[in-house]
Amino acid sequence: KAYLDRIQQLDSQLNSFITVTADAALAAAAEADTAIKNGTAGPLTGIPLAHKDIFCTQGVKTTCGSRMLDNFIAPYESTVTSKLKAAGTVMVGKTNLDEFAMGSSTESSYYGPTRNPWNTDTIPGGSSGGSAAAVAGGLVPAATGTDTGGSIRQPAALCGITGLKPTYGRVSRWGMIAYGSSLDSGGPLTKTAEDAALLLNAMAGFDHKDSTCVDRAVPDYTATLGDSIKGLRIGLPEEYFGEGLDSGIAERVNAAVKELEKLGAVVKKISLPRTQLSIPAYYIIAPAEASTNLSRYDGVRFGYRCEDPKDLLDMYTRTRAEGFGEEVKRRIMIGTYALSTGYYDAYYNKAQQLRRLIKDDFQTAFAEVDVIAGPTTPHPAWKLGAKGNDPVAMYLEDIYTLSVNLAGLPGMSVPCGQVNGLPVGMQLIGNYFDEARLLNLAHQFQ
Ligand code: GLN
Repeated sequence: KAYLDRIQQLDSQLNSFITVTADAALAAAAEADTAIKNGTAGPLTGIPLAHKDIFCTQGVKTTCGSRMLDNFIAPYESTVTSKLKAAGTVMVGKTNLDEFAMGSSTESSYYGPTRNPWNTDTIPGGSSGGSAAAVAGGLVPAATGTDTGGSIRQPAALCGITGLKPTYGRVSRWGMIAYGSSLDSGGPLTKTAEDAALLLNAMAGFDHKDSTCVDRAVPDYTATLGDSIKGLRIGLPEEYFGEGLDSGIAERVNAAVKELEKLGAVVKKISLPRTQLSIPAYYIIAPAEASTNLSRYDGVRFGYRCEDPKDLLDMYTRTRAEGFGEEVKRRIMIGTYALSTGYYDAYYNKAQQLRRLIKDDFQTAFAEVDVIAGPTTPHPAWKLGAKGNDPVAMYLEDIYTLSVNLAGLPGMSVPCGQVNGLPVGMQLIGNYFDEARLLNLAHQFQ
């Protein structure tokens, strides 16, 4: 009730929710009360959660921030939300996002921009900006998000909270509306690493409904919180501290690394030489996958359909022209172009080759260090509208997060101070399935 009141009081300023499911939440909370009384409660029983509106939730509007799905009531429940429900959590609503998760500021949503609770003139980051703002504003204790190129870590950093993008395949993608299927990962946005560990315990695990989900035991991520980090080798990539990084952020992240050193970690410089190339590689691969994934929105079976179509072709073209926003159309056009005969080798294949080299660079680094640390973002939150008309400027903000998705690695953003009153995030990158180590490191630091 306290969280629902807070949403009602404050969300007109933040616009972090697209849908609030107050009645269903109160009913679920009453069930949680009974479980607690009966002694059948688990660690997450009764914990209010918000879900990014990219997760299908049965019987509840699921929009993906798009006019295309404004009338879409999901007929089934995603694996992530159904696991969290089974763990006893209570969904209070669905959060705002960039349309189809394409963006870094939550400004491309059909439902208007979300604002950063630290300063409502600034953006909360994106695409999981609604989830990050809701947690940072205390509207909900934790939320889910998805990360295709930084969409959990970057809004977590800009809103001063903790965000974890698990290894690709650790968390099922079933029922999570597809953007770039080889890059998409669901994960938690929370106040602390301990909360993230609790949520990941419930979210992770094999699912036969997602063919890329990995069949591997899920450890108790809370069990290793507090383990000694003496001798842990932390690598600082020189490319993450060079030109383009805000000096205040560099200072805060370096200070955070010093704290880890005091706890016994051994810090050394490393190199991830293809970091710059992650932007062109990602902004070919993600739009290419998006252009095929989004071909399903054609006005035939579900979602938006234009009024009075003249014929089938008119229906397809007008439905898509009217249903999708500008950024989504830009991505579909880039992706379709990159995949077309004659350009495929020059763009898509080249990007895939780069992707492999970027992955190899990480493997070389992980032969020398256990964890990689650096900034999550080059700048703190910027003013609403400041990059709205310049897509390339927006893409460049993703420089430190994209390569982690291209390689399929786990990554985390942990709050590490402020610059001019705006939060700064330190990014921790681990080797495959090393989420427990990242969470422990973040926990000790917090
Ligand atoms: N900003 C990146 C993009 O626009 C990443 C978004 C995401 O991770 N969903 O594609």
